[in-house]
Amino acid sequence: MTVLRVALQRKGRLAEDSFRLLAEAGIGIPGIGERLRVPAVGYPLEAYLLRDDDIPLYVANGVADIGIVGENVVQEAAFPLEVVRRLGFGRCRLSLAVPKDSPIHSVSEVAGKRIATGYPNLTRRFLEQLHLQATIQPLHGSTEIAPSLGLADAIVDIVATGSTLLLHGLREVYAFLHSEAVLVRRPGETSPALEDFLFRIDGVLAARRQKYILFNLPEHVLQEVVALLPGLKSPTVMPLVEKGWISVHTVVEEDRFWEVAQRLQGLGAQGILVLDIEKLIR
Ligand code: ATP
Ligand code: MG
Repeated sequence: MTVLRVALQRKGRLAEDSFRLLAEAGIGIPGIGERLRVPAVGYPLEAYLLRDDDIPLYVANGVADIGIVGENVVQEAAFPLEVVRRLGFGRCRLSLAVPKDSPIHSVSEVAGKRIATGYPNLTRRFLEQLHLQATIQPLHGSTEIAPSLGLADAIVDIVATGSTLLLHGLREVYAFLHSEAVLVRRPGETSPALEDFLFRIDGVLAARRQKYILFNLPEHVLQEVVALLPGLKSPTVMPLVEKGWISVHTVVEEDRFWEVAQRLQGLGAQGILVLDIEKLIR
């Protein structure tokens, strides 16, 4: 099989989760040291370790087959790229923020003001969509201090928890975009190597989104439980030694887990046990 070329962030907020995703798919990227080009262990893949901002360019030019990067960076770069999978980590939002005591309380009040941002293209696009005009001041970092230094009235930057804004005396006014790490390729570009890689990634992503649950149940409520929990095909049922009782095994989406657990208990389920799934091939 040909070697799949994958562009990854070398260091930063996506790096560790990107390496972990590959590791869980059985693709080891050995101690990166100073190297920028690292062959994987146990899989025909070569990792290019880059600044995240450059990843869209590498993939768009066909130098890398795929890349793992924040959707915010993909959209800012504005190359024609296709999001093949959303990866569920690196969640954040691109937001307009102003100094705590600013008179600006809604996005429309930013009209005519100066906005400092590391995302000039996205900021311009979002302001256009809202029919607002403002002066955009592009920066390469430390956007948060621009208002206190008098360079801008507002900023547009990435926010995850909001603690950085708080630290710099800023208040979030409006979220333009919600973002997470994504897998990108050139539109429609595929190959056996890429399909094989996606098969593995999907196994990991599916497992992360599901939990394996098992519980004891009075046999007469089984049909109600099956309706609640369709599982992969249908739940596995095993008899308990105690007559009239069964053990039910199935999978449930993590998002639904608490709701399902409560309803199961309401139906008489006991001893509900929840386990992580390592891989899940549908
Ligand atoms: P590089 O050195 O690779 O250019 P960087 O400093 O530009 O790195 P990071 O701060 O590592 O970038 O963030 C990478 C991506 O992680 C962001 O583009 C965004 O998609 C995501 N992200 C998730 N949470 C946060 C956060 N709290 N602050 C900033 N980015 C975040
Ligand atoms: Mg960067």
